[in-house]
Amino acid sequence: MTSFIYSKLTCPDCGQTDTCPRMASTNNLGWRQWSDGWGRGDYWQTETGLLVCRCGAVFTAEEANPEHDGRHWPSSPQTGGIPECRSGNAWLAIRFRRWGSEGAERLVRLQCLWGIEEGERMLSPLADAAVSALPPPPHALSRESEENMERLLRLLESVDGYGLVRGDIQRRLCRFDMAISIYRADETIPAQWSDILCELARNEHSELVELPVH
Ligand SMILES: [Zn+2]
Repeated sequence: MTSFIYSKLTCPDCGQTDTCPRMASTNNLGWRQWSDGWGRGDYWQTETGLLVCRCGAVFTAEEANPEHDGRHWPSSPQTGGIPECRSGNAWLAIRFRRWGSEGAERLVRLQCLWGIEEGERMLSPLADAAVSALPPPPHALSRESEENMERLLRLLESVDGYGLVRGDIQRRLCRFDMAISIYRADETIPAQWSDILCELARNEHSELVELPVH
């Protein structure tokens, strides 16, 4: 069952007030998981929780003076409320540095990392198949993507729970030993994933892969 609750939020930058739909309950039916930490099910996908105002500022709900008490239904359906930040908004936010905190910057950069074209993501190989294949040539990354990855690595060092993302970035940047040590050190990564990702790294695979979900 997926339902929404609405919070009333105020943009910390321009002061506009609007409502924001937030997912209240979810399920993992049909879940598919990729090595960069992003996943998608039939009714739900991994979200950063980052929001974007019409003025272009990006922020978390907590930074927008949320009023959760009671249910706030959309007050102005014409405006559509304050939407989730998508990768197009996120790249713009990076260009104009539209965040107000390191936490928001971290999420903006994560959103950009995850903003791979749906079709391209779906074409990425299954981890099991990739392990037994020859490593493909390293994927050419744009300068923006590479800079984003390097900065994101630094921002993720100070927070827990992003071992999968950090390991994947190191692997995509062909720093395979670093990737292995991150996968090994993070006990929150399921052993099945960590084993297969370490093997991919040992074999110098730098591509995004889809992980087995059982
Ligand atoms: Zn604003």
